[in-house]
Amino acid sequence: MQRTLTIIKPDSMEAQNAGNILAHLEKEGFQIQALKRMRLSEAQAQKFYEVHRERPFYDSLVAYMTSGPIIAVALARENAVPHLREVMGATDPANAEDGTIRALYGSSIERNAIHGSDSPENARKELHFFFSRAELIAAE
Ligand code: ATP
Ligand code: MG
Repeated sequence: MQRTLTIIKPDSMEAQNAGNILAHLEKEGFQIQALKRMRLSEAQAQKFYEVHRERPFYDSLVAYMTSGPIIAVALARENAVPHLREVMGATDPANAEDGTIRALYGSSIERNAIHGSDSPENARKELHFFFSRAELIAAE
């Protein structure tokens, strides 16, 4: 089994879509192994999106991701990383395939419902960003 990280983003929380999104992921065979609701500080959001620091949308992305609570979720499944990318859909909900989470719940290229790790290596790093080693071991 592989693990990946999703973040239920502030737009989904505001629209009260968190339950629907978790149900959608469970129907896709993902096991919810650890879950944390929190509000990111500016410093945490800046650090999480460090790779995008030079992008024109960085400041807006940090403002959006700190605008309300999020839920970070450790998910497990076979091929969890690529499968989550598939069920999540394209970054811009307008380009996301019908039935994907972003097509169903996203409202713009920025407010796109959820995050999904883009590689096993980044999944590992991102899981450790939100969860302690003990929490991840206990989840197994
Ligand atoms: P994520 O990393 O959230 O799973 P992704 O891998 O599809 O999404 P990235 O290119 O890593 O997309 O961008 C990270 C996030 O930055 C996007 O999910 C979106 O919220 C925001 N973003 C990306 N491109 C733009 C853009 N052109 N304008 C505004 N926001 C953007
Ligand atoms: Mg990404």
